[in-house]
Amino acid sequence: MTLEVPHDPRDDYEPGGLVEPTAEEIWGSEPLSEPVSVPVAHSLTWEEAEPKLHEVARQYWGIETLRPHQLEAMQAAIEGRDALVVMPTGGGKSLCYQAPALVRRGLTVVVSPLISLMKDQVDGLRQNGVPAAYLASTIDERERDQIENALRSGELKLLYVSPERMVRQSFLDWLLRLGLEAIAVDEAHCISHWGHDFRPEYRLLGELRQGRHLPIQALTATATERVREDITTQLDLADPALIVGDFDRPNLTYRVVPRTDALEQVAEVCERHKGEGGIVYCLSRRLVEELHEGLKSKGVRSARYHAGLSADERRITSEDFKAERVDVVVATVAFGMGIDRPDVRFVAHASMPKGVEQYVQETGRAGRDGLPSECVLFAKTSDRQSWGRLIERSTQEAISEGGDEATLLDEERGAMVRLEEIASYASAAGCRHRHLAEHFGQTLEGESCGACDVCLGELESVSDSTSLARALVSAVLATGERFGAGHVSEVLRGSNAARIHKYKHNELPCHGSLKEHTTSAMRAWLEQLASQGYLRVEPGPYPTLSLCSKGHSLLRGEGTVALVKTAGAERKAKAPRRSSATATLSGEGQALFEQLRTLRRDLAAERKIPPYLICNDRTLIALAIERPRDRAELLAIPGIGEKKASDLGPLFLRAIAGS
Ligand code: ADP
Ligand code: ZN
Repeated sequence: MTLEVPHDPRDDYEPGGLVEPTAEEIWGSEPLSEPVSVPVAHSLTWEEAEPKLHEVARQYWGIETLRPHQLEAMQAAIEGRDALVVMPTGGGKSLCYQAPALVRRGLTVVVSPLISLMKDQVDGLRQNGVPAAYLASTIDERERDQIENALRSGELKLLYVSPERMVRQSFLDWLLRLGLEAIAVDEAHCISHWGHDFRPEYRLLGELRQGRHLPIQALTATATERVREDITTQLDLADPALIVGDFDRPNLTYRVVPRTDALEQVAEVCERHKGEGGIVYCLSRRLVEELHEGLKSKGVRSARYHAGLSADERRITSEDFKAERVDVVVATVAFGMGIDRPDVRFVAHASMPKGVEQYVQETGRAGRDGLPSECVLFAKTSDRQSWGRLIERSTQEAISEGGDEATLLDEERGAMVRLEEIASYASAAGCRHRHLAEHFGQTLEGESCGACDVCLGELESVSDSTSLARALVSAVLATGERFGAGHVSEVLRGSNAARIHKYKHNELPCHGSLKEHTTSAMRAWLEQLASQGYLRVEPGPYPTLSLCSKGHSLLRGEGTVALVKTAGAERKAKAPRRSSATATLSGEGQALFEQLRTLRRDLAAERKIPPYLICNDRTLIALAIERPRDRAELLAIPGIGEKKASDLGPLFLRAIAGS
């Protein structure tokens, strides 16, 4: 089976997942009962707060060391400064506001875009013994009363709410009287229409403070400058502390593989991760259905998720995945936000995403627990063309429907540039981690990352690279440095298309001189030459190639070039090495790990929460290696705080002793 990008995947594209109901649908229209105001005593200084923060991290989360960026964010929070915290998924953002919330006297409110996210966070916090709650349409009156009481007694430290609720004046007044001291805005990129998952309600948050001193900590994993600026302006952050974490995710192994047979290739990835969690992203519903059926028939415990399914069907898929009742979800990009399962061991893309940022966002869902995980992009050159056509068509349609032409064309150019960027990632032959880090304006230390197909030496090199490179560069020169990779490849291939004749490029000596190679292979090599500094790409909707000084030197016979067979460049896929999250375990350890995993699943089912809220794989692995014998030894295991040691400890200890 070969899968192509469908003609019009727009129907299947939907940002966000399960959406919080509108303001009207949210329970109770006020007023909430009159609160007794909680006096806020003097604020803590950083010197007073810092040791307390380390203490709560250890006591509640079983975390021994706070990361430098977390400490920076916490300091800003304690000092009452606005802050923008940008860290990749799994970077530990939540702790940046959760730990200060436990240390300060008043209440911290967290604005979160999805009920499922709030619920997950709060369930997780409660497992750790942190007094937290959320207010949403889904909670009943009894629960609401309990929350109100806990707020009034000052017992509750963290309250999660939706943006719609937060911006209601009466609600805010009520919170202020209850000692509201700080606000955290989670998934803050939702405020920007430049980001994915734009949520218009987030815009209202800008009006929230009305001159009051109420520090805001905005958190996001979206790294682009434009989104960052937008968050700062929209939220009206005053001289915010900017904390930008390291975007490289060393535990993710990136691979790009030319797509030949999507089902076979995806099935191979599933086989490599048998029994582990994974997500397969597709561009359309049709693709989702085909792959899901195909995987199921091969024995993969797969479920599907796309906009064409009913809300119930989608909810069941999400819940089954969280509860580990299924291993693999085949989905459109609609699946993602709100899925916090940290042991997703692979994210495979059955077709090319729309841009590098989307790719990083989607692959970011792998390995949130920091354990080795894999991201594979199955790409084909035709994906880019299909996307390009689609973008052009939707622009034309929007214009004919009366949209502003200049704006729409501007957006179209932006979309084309993003498409070129991901295409160039897919065909480049340099380290993938470096490529991604540089995309976000960061650098990567060292020569080899050891965690991408390029650095692992999985790509085959081309034997006559230097002479091939010379032929390619000289064709760019011969055609006048005015054309893109597509045209130059066509000339070298010997095409007799009208376009080639129009420019008399059929008369050039290089016409047909590389007949033996496919145009997609040549395009990929031209991109490699560009990324190695021989050629320059003039960006735009029709990017053109020209020579850099290194390219001229090459034509004078200087230097040697290394080209590799990548996606679209005649690469025969070499079987990748299995990177296992549990590789550090011995055979016995492995058996104990699986036993503890079953115990975790049972405990989770009993408590009606997802297994990862019981504890994550890192904790299970540490338990399987260290084999603690008593409470003190248990407390030394990462991820086990005091509540879990009392609550789950005896069960774990018994399982370990009996194994
Ligand atoms: P994010 O919100 O940035 O995606 P989370 O806040 O969910 O990330 O954190 C991801 C995981 O890392 C959680 O399991 C969390 O407990 C863990 N974690 C956070 N900070 C630390 C730390 N300093 N040391 C060890 N683990 C940490
Ligand atoms: Zn690398």
